[in-house]
Amino acid sequence: MTQTAVKTLKNYIGGEWIEATSEKQEPVYNPATGEVIAYVPISGEKDVERAVSVAFEKFQTWKEVPVPKRARILFKYQQLLVDHWDELAKLITIENGKNFTEAYGEVQRGIENVEFAAGAPSLMIGEQLASIATDLESGVYRYPIGVIGGITPFNFPMMVPCWMFPLAIVTGNTFVLKPSERTPLLANRLAELLEEAGLPKGVFNIVHGAHDVVNGLLDNKKVAAISFVGSQPVAEYVYKRGTENLKRVQALAGAKNHSIVLADANLDNATTQILNAAFGSAGERCMAASVVAVEDSIADEFIKLLVQKTNEIKIGNGLDEGIFLGPVIREQHKERTLQYIETGVNEGAILIRDGRRDEAAQRKGYFVGPTIFDKVTKDMKIWQDEIFAPVLSIARVSNLDEAIELANQSRFANGACIFTNDGRSVRKFRENIDAGMLGVNIGVPAPMAFFPFSGWKDSFYGDLHANGKDGLQFYTRKKVITTRWV
Ligand code: NAD
Repeated sequence: MTQTAVKTLKNYIGGEWIEATSEKQEPVYNPATGEVIAYVPISGEKDVERAVSVAFEKFQTWKEVPVPKRARILFKYQQLLVDHWDELAKLITIENGKNFTEAYGEVQRGIENVEFAAGAPSLMIGEQLASIATDLESGVYRYPIGVIGGITPFNFPMMVPCWMFPLAIVTGNTFVLKPSERTPLLANRLAELLEEAGLPKGVFNIVHGAHDVVNGLLDNKKVAAISFVGSQPVAEYVYKRGTENLKRVQALAGAKNHSIVLADANLDNATTQILNAAFGSAGERCMAASVVAVEDSIADEFIKLLVQKTNEIKIGNGLDEGIFLGPVIREQHKERTLQYIETGVNEGAILIRDGRRDEAAQRKGYFVGPTIFDKVTKDMKIWQDEIFAPVLSIARVSNLDEAIELANQSRFANGACIFTNDGRSVRKFRENIDAGMLGVNIGVPAPMAFFPFSGWKDSFYGDLHANGKDGLQFYTRKKVITTRWV
Protein backbone atom coordinates (compact mmCIF):
# COMPACT_ATOMS: atom_id res chain seq x y z
CA MET A 1 0.00 0.00 0.00
CA THR A 2 1.37 3.43 -0.87
CA GLN A 3 1.76 6.21 1.66
CA THR A 4 -0.92 8.24 -0.10
CA ALA A 5 -3.52 5.56 0.54
CA VAL A 6 -3.29 5.71 4.35
CA LYS A 7 -5.46 8.03 6.36
CA THR A 8 -2.94 10.05 8.38
CA LEU A 9 -0.04 11.26 6.28
CA LYS A 10 3.52 11.02 7.49
CA ASN A 11 6.51 13.22 7.04
CA TYR A 12 9.31 12.02 4.78
CA ILE A 13 12.68 12.55 6.42
CA GLY A 14 15.95 10.88 5.50
CA GLY A 15 14.12 8.50 3.17
CA GLU A 16 11.81 7.23 5.95
CA TRP A 17 8.09 7.83 6.48
CA ILE A 18 7.96 9.24 9.99
CA GLU A 19 5.05 10.26 12.19
CA ALA A 20 5.12 13.91 13.19
CA THR A 21 6.04 14.51 16.83
CA SER A 22 3.15 16.93 17.18
CA GLU A 23 -0.27 15.45 17.98
CA LYS A 24 -2.05 18.06 15.90
CA GLN A 25 -3.60 17.15 12.58
CA GLU A 26 -6.13 18.56 10.12
CA PRO A 27 -8.58 16.89 7.77
CA VAL A 28 -7.90 17.04 4.03
CA TYR A 29 -11.11 17.28 2.01
CA ASN A 30 -12.10 16.39 -1.48
CA PRO A 31 -13.59 19.81 -2.32
CA ALA A 32 -15.98 18.32 -4.89
CA THR A 33 -17.69 16.12 -2.31
CA GLY A 34 -16.75 17.53 1.08
CA GLU A 35 -15.45 14.09 2.12
CA VAL A 36 -12.37 13.73 4.31
CA ILE A 37 -9.76 11.91 2.24
CA ALA A 38 -6.83 12.01 4.67
CA TYR A 39 -5.48 13.73 7.75
CA VAL A 40 -2.38 15.86 7.52
CA PRO A 41 -0.07 16.27 10.50
CA ILE A 42 0.53 19.83 11.65
CA SER A 43 4.16 19.27 12.47
CA GLY A 44 6.12 21.28 14.99
CA GLU A 45 9.59 22.75 15.22
CA LYS A 46 11.15 19.45 16.31
CA ASP A 47 10.06 17.86 13.04
CA VAL A 48 11.56 20.73 11.05
CA GLU A 49 14.79 20.55 13.05
CA ARG A 50 15.06 16.84 12.34
CA ALA A 51 14.45 17.21 8.61
CA VAL A 52 16.82 20.16 8.24
CA SER A 53 19.59 18.36 10.17
CA VAL A 54 19.25 15.31 7.92
CA ALA A 55 19.24 17.50 4.81
CA PHE A 56 22.23 19.48 6.07
CA GLU A 57 24.26 16.35 6.71
CA LYS A 58 23.28 14.86 3.36
CA PHE A 59 24.32 18.05 1.59
CA GLN A 60 27.97 17.38 2.51
CA THR A 61 28.05 14.27 0.29
CA TRP A 62 25.34 15.02 -2.27
CA LYS A 63 27.18 18.14 -3.46
CA GLU A 64 30.15 15.90 -4.33
CA VAL A 65 28.12 13.64 -6.63
CA PRO A 66 29.02 14.47 -10.25
CA VAL A 67 26.38 16.58 -11.96
CA PRO A 68 25.65 14.06 -14.78
CA LYS A 69 25.06 11.38 -12.16
CA ARG A 70 22.58 13.59 -10.34
CA ALA A 71 20.92 14.43 -13.67
CA ARG A 72 20.55 10.74 -14.55
CA ILE A 73 18.27 10.30 -11.53
CA LEU A 74 16.02 13.01 -12.92
CA PHE A 75 15.90 11.24 -16.29
CA LYS A 76 14.53 8.19 -14.48
CA TYR A 77 12.19 10.38 -12.48
CA GLN A 78 10.87 11.98 -15.66
CA GLN A 79 10.01 8.53 -17.04
CA LEU A 80 8.28 7.55 -13.81
CA LEU A 81 6.19 10.73 -13.85
CA VAL A 82 5.20 10.00 -17.45
CA ASP A 83 4.30 6.41 -16.49
CA HIS A 84 2.12 7.67 -13.61
CA TRP A 85 0.65 10.67 -15.45
CA ASP A 86 -3.02 9.66 -15.16
CA GLU A 87 -2.69 8.63 -11.53
CA LEU A 88 -1.01 11.92 -10.57
CA ALA A 89 -3.60 13.97 -12.46
CA LYS A 90 -6.42 12.10 -10.73
CA LEU A 91 -4.88 12.75 -7.34
CA ILE A 92 -4.63 16.47 -8.14
CA THR A 93 -8.32 16.56 -9.09
CA ILE A 94 -9.30 14.73 -5.93
CA GLU A 95 -7.43 16.98 -3.51
CA ASN A 96 -7.61 20.29 -5.39
CA GLY A 97 -10.86 20.11 -7.37
CA LYS A 98 -9.64 21.31 -10.81
CA ASN A 99 -10.93 19.21 -13.70
CA PHE A 100 -8.96 16.19 -14.92
CA THR A 101 -7.83 17.86 -18.16
CA GLU A 102 -6.40 20.80 -16.22
CA ALA A 103 -4.79 18.43 -13.74
CA TYR A 104 -3.29 16.49 -16.65
CA GLY A 105 -1.85 19.75 -17.96
CA GLU A 106 -0.45 20.54 -14.54
CA VAL A 107 1.41 17.22 -14.52
CA GLN A 108 2.84 18.14 -17.91
CA ARG A 109 4.14 21.45 -16.52
CA GLY A 110 5.76 19.54 -13.65
CA ILE A 111 7.38 17.06 -16.02
CA GLU A 112 8.78 19.92 -18.10
CA ASN A 113 10.46 21.30 -15.00
CA VAL A 114 12.10 17.93 -14.43
CA GLU A 115 13.21 17.84 -18.08
CA PHE A 116 14.73 21.31 -17.80
CA ALA A 117 16.54 20.36 -14.59
CA ALA A 118 17.90 17.17 -16.19
CA GLY A 119 19.94 19.48 -18.43
CA ALA A 120 22.04 20.47 -15.40
CA PRO A 121 25.38 19.36 -16.88
CA SER A 122 24.95 22.00 -19.60
CA LEU A 123 23.33 24.56 -17.31
CA MET A 124 26.10 24.32 -14.70
CA ILE A 125 28.94 24.95 -17.14
CA GLY A 126 30.98 27.97 -16.06
CA GLU A 127 32.90 30.53 -18.11
CA GLN A 128 36.56 31.33 -18.66
CA LEU A 129 38.63 34.18 -20.01
CA ALA A 130 41.98 32.81 -21.16
CA SER A 131 43.82 36.09 -20.75
CA ILE A 132 42.78 38.84 -18.36
CA ALA A 133 46.39 40.05 -18.12
CA THR A 134 49.70 38.69 -19.27
CA ASP A 135 49.88 35.02 -18.24
CA LEU A 136 46.76 35.50 -16.11
CA GLU A 137 43.43 33.71 -16.62
CA SER A 138 40.10 33.69 -14.85
CA GLY A 139 37.15 31.38 -14.74
CA VAL A 140 33.87 30.99 -12.91
CA TYR A 141 32.48 27.76 -11.42
CA ARG A 142 28.99 27.15 -10.10
CA TYR A 143 28.21 25.43 -6.76
CA PRO A 144 25.09 24.54 -4.77
CA ILE A 145 24.25 26.60 -1.70
CA GLY A 146 23.01 24.07 0.87
CA VAL A 147 19.61 23.20 2.30
CA ILE A 148 16.66 24.78 0.47
CA GLY A 149 13.26 25.18 2.15
CA GLY A 150 10.30 25.07 -0.24
CA ILE A 151 6.87 26.36 0.88
CA THR A 152 4.03 25.85 -1.56
CA PRO A 153 0.34 26.81 -2.07
CA PHE A 154 -2.72 24.62 -2.59
CA ASN A 155 -3.55 25.58 -6.14
CA PHE A 156 -0.80 23.69 -8.01
CA PRO A 157 0.20 20.78 -5.76
CA MET A 158 2.45 19.31 -8.47
CA MET A 159 3.64 22.17 -10.65
CA VAL A 160 4.75 24.57 -7.94
CA PRO A 161 6.91 22.08 -5.97
CA CYS A 162 8.35 21.09 -9.37
CA TRP A 163 9.41 24.72 -9.96
CA MET A 164 11.67 24.19 -7.00
CA PHE A 165 13.04 20.81 -6.03
CA PRO A 166 14.15 19.29 -9.39
CA LEU A 167 16.45 22.24 -10.14
CA ALA A 168 17.51 22.61 -6.51
CA ILE A 169 18.58 18.99 -6.05
CA VAL A 170 20.13 18.46 -9.47
CA THR A 171 22.42 21.44 -8.83
CA GLY A 172 23.60 19.73 -5.63
CA ASN A 173 21.39 21.17 -2.89
CA THR A 174 19.22 19.20 -0.52
CA PHE A 175 15.57 20.07 0.00
CA VAL A 176 12.87 20.28 2.66
CA LEU A 177 9.36 20.76 1.25
CA LYS A 178 6.43 22.12 3.27
CA PRO A 179 3.45 21.45 0.99
CA SER A 180 0.10 23.17 1.44
CA GLU A 181 -1.78 21.51 4.26
CA ARG A 182 -4.87 21.71 2.05
CA THR A 183 -3.33 19.61 -0.77
CA PRO A 184 -0.62 17.46 0.82
CA LEU A 185 -1.18 14.08 -0.83
CA LEU A 186 0.47 14.71 -4.16
CA ALA A 187 3.75 15.72 -2.49
CA ASN A 188 4.03 12.34 -0.83
CA ARG A 189 3.51 10.59 -4.15
CA LEU A 190 6.25 12.77 -5.68
CA ALA A 191 8.58 11.62 -2.90
CA GLU A 192 7.76 7.94 -3.45
CA LEU A 193 8.58 8.27 -7.13
CA LEU A 194 11.82 10.13 -6.37
CA GLU A 195 12.84 7.22 -4.18
CA GLU A 196 11.97 4.79 -6.98
CA ALA A 197 14.12 6.85 -9.35
CA GLY A 198 17.08 6.20 -7.05
CA LEU A 199 17.43 9.51 -5.23
CA PRO A 200 19.62 8.91 -2.15
CA LYS A 201 17.88 9.19 1.20
CA GLY A 202 17.91 12.64 2.77
CA VAL A 203 18.26 14.67 -0.42
CA PHE A 204 14.52 15.37 -0.56
CA ASN A 205 12.40 15.62 2.59
CA ILE A 206 8.84 16.61 3.41
CA VAL A 207 7.53 18.16 6.62
CA HIS A 208 3.76 18.61 6.58
CA GLY A 209 2.10 21.37 8.52
CA ALA A 210 1.39 25.08 8.63
CA HIS A 211 2.85 28.22 10.24
CA ASP A 212 5.16 26.47 12.71
CA VAL A 213 6.90 24.55 9.96
CA VAL A 214 7.30 27.70 7.89
CA ASN A 215 8.73 29.60 10.86
CA GLY A 216 11.01 26.67 11.66
CA LEU A 217 12.45 26.79 8.15
CA LEU A 218 12.76 30.58 8.18
CA ASP A 219 14.64 30.62 11.48
CA ASN A 220 16.86 27.57 11.07
CA LYS A 221 20.46 28.63 10.46
CA LYS A 222 21.15 25.48 8.45
CA VAL A 223 18.62 26.52 5.79
CA ALA A 224 20.43 28.54 3.13
CA ALA A 225 17.51 29.64 0.99
CA ILE A 226 13.73 29.73 0.85
CA SER A 227 11.54 29.39 -2.23
CA PHE A 228 8.01 30.48 -1.37
CA VAL A 229 4.84 30.61 -3.45
CA GLY A 230 1.55 31.73 -1.91
CA SER A 231 -0.62 34.69 -1.03
CA GLN A 232 0.68 38.27 -0.77
CA PRO A 233 0.62 38.79 3.02
CA VAL A 234 2.40 35.49 3.66
CA ALA A 235 4.93 36.13 0.88
CA GLU A 236 5.78 39.51 2.39
CA TYR A 237 6.12 37.95 5.84
CA VAL A 238 8.29 35.09 4.56
CA TYR A 239 10.51 37.46 2.59
CA LYS A 240 11.03 39.79 5.56
CA ARG A 241 11.66 37.08 8.14
CA GLY A 242 13.82 34.99 5.80
CA THR A 243 16.03 37.87 4.72
CA GLU A 244 16.28 39.12 8.32
CA ASN A 245 17.74 35.71 9.04
CA LEU A 246 20.19 36.39 6.18
CA LYS A 247 18.80 33.80 3.81
CA ARG A 248 18.37 34.00 0.10
CA VAL A 249 14.60 34.29 -0.46
CA GLN A 250 12.35 34.32 -3.51
CA ALA A 251 8.68 34.86 -2.61
CA LEU A 252 6.08 34.66 -5.36
CA ALA A 253 2.87 36.26 -4.19
CA GLY A 254 -0.77 37.00 -5.04
CA ALA A 255 -2.21 38.61 -8.12
CA LYS A 256 -4.99 40.57 -9.78
CA ASN A 257 -4.42 39.99 -13.45
CA HIS A 258 -5.73 42.41 -16.05
CA SER A 259 -6.73 41.62 -19.60
CA ILE A 260 -7.36 44.30 -22.19
CA VAL A 261 -9.69 43.75 -25.15
CA LEU A 262 -9.34 46.30 -27.93
CA ALA A 263 -11.98 47.03 -30.55
CA ASP A 264 -10.08 45.24 -33.31
CA ALA A 265 -9.71 41.98 -31.35
CA ASN A 266 -11.07 38.68 -32.58
CA LEU A 267 -13.94 38.50 -30.12
CA ASP A 268 -14.55 34.80 -30.54
CA ASN A 269 -10.95 34.09 -29.48
CA ALA A 270 -10.94 36.77 -26.77
CA THR A 271 -14.11 35.50 -25.09
CA THR A 272 -13.00 31.85 -25.21
CA GLN A 273 -9.57 32.68 -23.81
CA ILE A 274 -10.88 34.99 -21.09
CA LEU A 275 -13.57 32.53 -20.05
CA ASN A 276 -10.89 29.88 -19.65
CA ALA A 277 -8.54 32.25 -17.84
CA ALA A 278 -11.21 33.55 -15.46
CA PHE A 279 -13.08 30.36 -14.65
CA GLY A 280 -10.54 27.59 -15.36
CA SER A 281 -9.27 25.96 -12.15
CA ALA A 282 -12.21 27.77 -10.51
CA GLY A 283 -10.28 31.04 -10.78
CA GLU A 284 -7.70 29.62 -8.37
CA ARG A 285 -4.70 30.39 -10.53
CA CYS A 286 -2.15 33.08 -9.82
CA MET A 287 -2.48 33.85 -13.55
CA ALA A 288 -6.30 33.90 -13.53
CA ALA A 289 -7.91 36.74 -15.46
CA SER A 290 -9.74 38.73 -12.82
CA VAL A 291 -10.28 42.11 -14.48
CA VAL A 292 -11.03 42.70 -18.16
CA ALA A 293 -10.83 46.23 -19.51
CA VAL A 294 -12.89 46.35 -22.70
CA GLU A 295 -13.08 49.22 -25.17
CA ASP A 296 -16.49 50.87 -24.94
CA SER A 297 -17.36 50.42 -28.61
CA ILE A 298 -17.36 46.61 -28.37
CA ALA A 299 -18.19 46.12 -24.68
CA ASP A 300 -21.84 45.11 -25.20
CA GLU A 301 -20.98 42.64 -27.95
CA PHE A 302 -18.08 41.21 -25.90
CA ILE A 303 -20.26 40.75 -22.82
CA LYS A 304 -23.10 39.14 -24.75
CA LEU A 305 -20.76 36.55 -26.27
CA LEU A 306 -18.92 35.95 -22.99
CA VAL A 307 -22.11 35.37 -21.03
CA GLN A 308 -23.49 33.12 -23.77
CA LYS A 309 -20.36 30.93 -23.66
CA THR A 310 -20.21 31.01 -19.86
CA ASN A 311 -23.77 29.71 -19.65
CA GLU A 312 -22.61 26.57 -21.44
CA ILE A 313 -20.00 25.71 -18.79
CA LYS A 314 -20.57 22.42 -16.98
CA ILE A 315 -19.99 22.59 -13.24
CA GLY A 316 -19.26 19.56 -11.08
CA ASN A 317 -16.74 16.98 -9.94
CA GLY A 318 -13.62 17.40 -12.09
CA LEU A 319 -13.32 13.64 -12.52
CA ASP A 320 -16.62 13.50 -14.41
CA GLU A 321 -16.64 13.68 -18.20
CA GLY A 322 -17.13 17.14 -19.71
CA ILE A 323 -16.86 19.09 -16.45
CA PHE A 324 -15.14 22.45 -16.88
CA LEU A 325 -15.63 24.17 -13.54
CA GLY A 326 -14.82 22.34 -10.34
CA PRO A 327 -15.21 23.51 -6.74
CA VAL A 328 -13.14 26.06 -4.84
CA ILE A 329 -10.82 24.61 -2.28
CA ARG A 330 -12.76 24.87 1.01
CA GLU A 331 -16.14 25.79 2.47
CA GLN A 332 -14.58 28.93 4.05
CA HIS A 333 -13.21 29.96 0.66
CA LYS A 334 -16.68 29.54 -0.85
CA GLU A 335 -18.13 31.72 1.93
CA ARG A 336 -15.45 34.36 1.36
CA THR A 337 -16.25 34.35 -2.38
CA LEU A 338 -19.98 34.75 -1.74
CA GLN A 339 -19.18 37.69 0.51
CA TYR A 340 -17.15 39.30 -2.28
CA ILE A 341 -20.09 38.88 -4.66
CA GLU A 342 -22.31 40.60 -2.11
CA THR A 343 -19.71 43.36 -1.71
CA GLY A 344 -19.57 43.88 -5.47
CA VAL A 345 -23.35 44.33 -5.59
CA ASN A 346 -23.25 46.76 -2.66
CA GLU A 347 -20.44 48.72 -4.29
CA GLY A 348 -22.63 49.34 -7.33
CA ALA A 349 -21.07 46.98 -9.88
CA ILE A 350 -23.61 45.41 -12.24
CA LEU A 351 -23.96 41.69 -11.60
CA ILE A 352 -24.63 40.28 -15.04
CA ARG A 353 -24.06 36.62 -14.22
CA ASP A 354 -24.65 35.43 -10.66
CA GLY A 355 -22.80 32.20 -9.87
CA ARG A 356 -24.67 31.88 -6.58
CA ARG A 357 -27.78 30.92 -8.55
CA ASP A 358 -26.23 27.97 -10.40
CA GLU A 359 -27.71 24.67 -9.30
CA ALA A 360 -24.23 23.35 -8.47
CA ALA A 361 -23.74 26.14 -5.92
CA GLN A 362 -26.41 24.47 -3.78
CA ARG A 363 -24.61 21.09 -3.77
CA LYS A 364 -22.52 19.52 -1.05
CA GLY A 365 -19.11 20.32 -2.57
CA TYR A 366 -17.68 23.85 -2.48
CA PHE A 367 -19.08 25.07 -5.80
CA VAL A 368 -19.52 28.66 -6.92
CA GLY A 369 -20.83 29.23 -10.43
CA PRO A 370 -19.05 31.60 -12.83
CA THR A 371 -19.81 35.16 -11.82
CA ILE A 372 -19.42 38.29 -13.97
CA PHE A 373 -19.65 41.92 -12.93
CA ASP A 374 -19.87 44.81 -15.38
CA LYS A 375 -18.98 48.49 -14.83
CA VAL A 376 -16.42 47.75 -12.17
CA THR A 377 -14.24 50.67 -11.09
CA LYS A 378 -10.91 50.87 -9.33
CA ASP A 379 -12.32 52.13 -6.03
CA MET A 380 -14.26 48.87 -5.58
CA LYS A 381 -12.89 46.07 -3.43
CA ILE A 382 -13.77 43.53 -6.11
CA TRP A 383 -11.34 45.40 -8.40
CA GLN A 384 -8.61 45.75 -5.78
CA ASP A 385 -8.52 42.41 -3.96
CA GLU A 386 -7.48 38.99 -5.17
CA ILE A 387 -10.69 36.96 -4.85
CA PHE A 388 -9.13 33.73 -6.17
CA ALA A 389 -12.43 32.27 -7.31
CA PRO A 390 -14.58 32.24 -10.49
CA VAL A 391 -15.46 35.93 -10.29
CA LEU A 392 -14.64 38.21 -13.22
CA SER A 393 -14.81 42.01 -13.23
CA ILE A 394 -15.34 43.96 -16.44
CA ALA A 395 -14.29 47.61 -16.64
CA ARG A 396 -15.23 49.71 -19.64
CA VAL A 397 -12.49 51.95 -21.03
CA SER A 398 -12.33 54.41 -23.90
CA ASN A 399 -8.93 53.37 -25.23
CA LEU A 400 -5.68 51.45 -24.65
CA ASP A 401 -4.01 54.26 -22.69
CA GLU A 402 -6.85 54.28 -20.20
CA ALA A 403 -6.76 50.49 -19.92
CA ILE A 404 -3.02 50.49 -19.20
CA GLU A 405 -3.33 53.32 -16.71
CA LEU A 406 -6.10 51.46 -14.93
CA ALA A 407 -4.18 48.17 -14.74
CA ASN A 408 -1.05 49.92 -13.45
CA GLN A 409 -2.94 51.27 -10.46
CA SER A 410 -3.23 47.77 -9.02
CA ARG A 411 -0.73 46.94 -6.29
CA PHE A 412 -0.33 43.54 -7.97
CA ALA A 413 1.51 42.97 -11.22
CA ASN A 414 1.71 39.28 -11.94
CA GLY A 415 0.29 38.88 -15.44
CA ALA A 416 -1.45 40.99 -18.07
CA CYS A 417 -2.89 40.13 -21.49
CA ILE A 418 -3.97 42.08 -24.52
CA PHE A 419 -6.36 41.05 -27.27
CA THR A 420 -5.72 42.88 -30.53
CA ASN A 421 -4.27 42.39 -33.99
CA ASP A 422 -2.53 45.74 -34.01
CA GLY A 423 1.26 45.56 -33.63
CA ARG A 424 1.63 49.12 -32.39
CA SER A 425 -0.89 48.50 -29.63
CA VAL A 426 0.96 45.37 -28.60
CA ARG A 427 4.20 47.32 -28.43
CA LYS A 428 2.62 50.10 -26.37
CA PHE A 429 1.15 47.50 -24.03
CA ARG A 430 4.47 45.67 -23.67
CA GLU A 431 6.42 48.84 -22.98
CA ASN A 432 4.01 50.40 -20.49
CA ILE A 433 2.18 47.71 -18.57
CA ASP A 434 3.44 46.74 -15.10
CA ALA A 435 3.52 42.93 -15.03
CA GLY A 436 6.04 40.14 -15.12
CA MET A 437 4.18 37.80 -17.47
CA LEU A 438 2.49 39.16 -20.60
CA GLY A 439 0.15 37.51 -23.08
CA VAL A 440 -0.97 38.55 -26.55
CA ASN A 441 -4.24 36.99 -27.70
CA ILE A 442 -3.95 34.36 -24.97
CA GLY A 443 -5.68 34.32 -21.60
CA VAL A 444 -3.04 32.72 -19.42
CA PRO A 445 0.66 33.49 -20.00
CA ALA A 446 1.53 30.28 -18.19
CA PRO A 447 4.87 29.62 -16.51
CA MET A 448 7.17 27.53 -18.67
CA ALA A 449 10.09 25.63 -17.18
CA PHE A 450 12.58 27.14 -19.62
CA PHE A 451 11.80 30.82 -18.92
CA PRO A 452 11.88 32.77 -15.67
CA PHE A 453 8.48 33.19 -14.07
CA SER A 454 7.26 35.85 -11.70
CA GLY A 455 5.38 39.07 -11.25
CA TRP A 456 6.36 42.61 -10.29
CA LYS A 457 5.30 44.94 -7.46
CA ASP A 458 3.38 43.17 -4.67
CA SER A 459 3.20 39.95 -6.70
CA PHE A 460 6.85 39.14 -6.01
CA TYR A 461 9.49 39.78 -3.39
CA GLY A 462 13.07 38.99 -4.25
CA ASP A 463 15.38 39.24 -7.19
CA LEU A 464 15.78 35.99 -9.10
CA HIS A 465 12.49 34.60 -10.39
CA ALA A 466 11.45 30.95 -10.44
CA ASN A 467 12.35 28.61 -13.33
CA GLY A 468 14.74 28.89 -16.25
CA LYS A 469 18.15 30.42 -15.78
CA ASP A 470 16.89 32.53 -12.88
CA GLY A 471 16.07 29.33 -11.02
CA LEU A 472 19.53 27.97 -11.74
CA GLN A 473 21.12 31.12 -10.37
CA PHE A 474 18.92 31.14 -7.31
CA TYR A 475 20.00 27.62 -6.35
CA THR A 476 23.71 28.12 -7.05
CA ARG A 477 26.59 30.38 -6.07
CA LYS A 478 29.78 31.10 -7.93
CA LYS A 479 33.52 30.92 -7.40
CA VAL A 480 35.88 32.87 -9.60
CA ILE A 481 39.41 31.52 -9.86
CA THR A 482 42.25 33.65 -11.17
CA THR A 483 45.46 31.83 -12.06
CA ARG A 484 48.94 32.95 -13.03
CA TRP A 485 51.10 30.32 -14.71
CA VAL A 486 54.70 30.96 -13.60
P1 NAD B 1 -1.23 30.78 1.37
O1 NAD B 1 -0.40 32.01 1.43
O2 NAD B 1 -2.39 30.67 2.27
O3 NAD B 1 -0.31 29.50 1.70
C1 NAD B 1 0.93 29.29 1.03
C2 NAD B 1 1.85 28.53 2.00
O4 NAD B 1 2.13 29.37 3.12
C3 NAD B 1 1.21 27.26 2.54
O5 NAD B 1 2.18 26.25 2.55
C4 NAD B 1 0.75 27.66 3.94
O6 NAD B 1 0.80 26.59 4.84
C5 NAD B 1 1.75 28.73 4.33
N1 NAD B 1 1.15 29.75 5.20
C6 NAD B 1 -0.13 30.23 5.14
N2 NAD B 1 -0.31 31.20 6.07
C7 NAD B 1 0.85 31.31 6.73
C8 NAD B 1 1.30 32.15 7.81
N3 NAD B 1 0.49 33.04 8.36
N4 NAD B 1 2.56 32.02 8.24
C9 NAD B 1 3.40 31.12 7.68
N5 NAD B 1 3.03 30.30 6.66
C10 NAD B 1 1.79 30.40 6.19
O7 NAD B 1 -1.63 30.58 -0.16
P2 NAD B 1 -2.67 29.53 -0.75
O8 NAD B 1 -4.05 29.97 -0.39
O9 NAD B 1 -2.24 28.15 -0.44
O10 NAD B 1 -2.43 29.75 -2.32
C11 NAD B 1 -3.08 30.73 -3.06
C12 NAD B 1 -2.26 31.99 -3.18
O11 NAD B 1 -1.01 31.69 -3.78
C13 NAD B 1 -2.90 33.03 -4.08
O12 NAD B 1 -2.72 34.29 -3.49
C14 NAD B 1 -2.13 32.91 -5.38
O13 NAD B 1 -2.12 34.08 -6.17
C15 NAD B 1 -0.77 32.60 -4.85
N6 NAD B 1 0.04 31.95 -5.89
C16 NAD B 1 1.00 32.71 -6.48
C17 NAD B 1 1.75 32.16 -7.51
C18 NAD B 1 2.78 32.99 -8.20
O14 NAD B 1 3.51 32.43 -9.00
N7 NAD B 1 2.89 34.27 -7.93
C19 NAD B 1 1.54 30.83 -7.89
C20 NAD B 1 0.57 30.08 -7.25
C21 NAD B 1 -0.19 30.66 -6.23
